[in-house]
This record gives sequence, C-alpha cells and structure tokens, in this order.
Amino acid sequence: MLEELYQEIILDHYRHPRGRGELEPPKITQEGFNPSCGDEVILDVRVENGRVSDVRFRGRGCSISQASASMLVEAVKGKSLEEARQLIQQVLALVKGEIEADFEQHGELAALAGVRNFPVRVKCATLAWHTLEEALKQAEEVAAK
Ligand code: ZN
Repeated sequence: MLEELYQEIILDHYRHPRGRGELEPPKITQEGFNPSCGDEVILDVRVENGRVSDVRFRGRGCSISQASASMLVEAVKGKSLEEARQLIQQVLALVKGEIEADFEQHGELAALAGVRNFPVRVKCATLAWHTLEEALKQAEEVAAK
C-alpha cells in the first residue's frame, strides 16, 4: 500500500513537474549530474535577504531524479538558508533510511524514502538535493563578497 502511494506521488511530480524552467537574473545556477543513471538536474536559485525566494529546475533523467527536483522546488521555496540546509539533511537521511518516513512530518518528501531499499536509486533521489547544497555554498560566497 505504502509503496503504491510512494510511486503515485513520484509519478505525479514526474508527469506534472512543479517549477520547471529558468529564473531571470539575479540567480545562482548549479548543475548536478548522476553518472550512474545519466540523470541531470540544473537548479536556478535566487537568494534574497537570506532566504530562497525562488527556485526552478531543468534537466533530464529517470522519473525519480526529476520528481525529486520537482519536490525540492515546492519544499525549499521561501525557506531561510539555514532551514534549507536542515531540509537537505532531512531528505538525505530519509532517502538513506536513517530516519523513519512520516507523511505528517515530511509531507510528500516521505515518498522519496521509497528508494531506500534500492541503492542504485538513492543517487537518483539525492541528486537535486546535493545540487542545492552546492548552490547554497555559491550563495554564501556571493554574499561574503
Ligand atoms: Zn536516475
């Protein structure tokens, strides 16, 4: 039952991606690549006043990698940099099976926990989140200038 629900959520995001596209400048662009599956995710992130005020993604690859990027867009928009970093850690822990998936607590992101028994798929699910991690580092470097 739960696995069907996971699949449904992932397919819904894959077929109807949220926030697909590009941002106008000013923005930070970060590319991510998962060679083991051929997945590509490009994030456009705008940081204003210490918050992720907008985010878009482009890319191609398997349904899990693209659905994960779509979920990221919904989850991270409006978050402070610190909240965004915590969210990344939470999702990585979910995907790797280090914490229990809970729809009430994690919302649709809980569906990403469905890959935890498939090590090859873990990299697909985490690609967008590692890419965001790099984008946030860029944002900090820009802010420090
Ligand atoms: Zn993949």
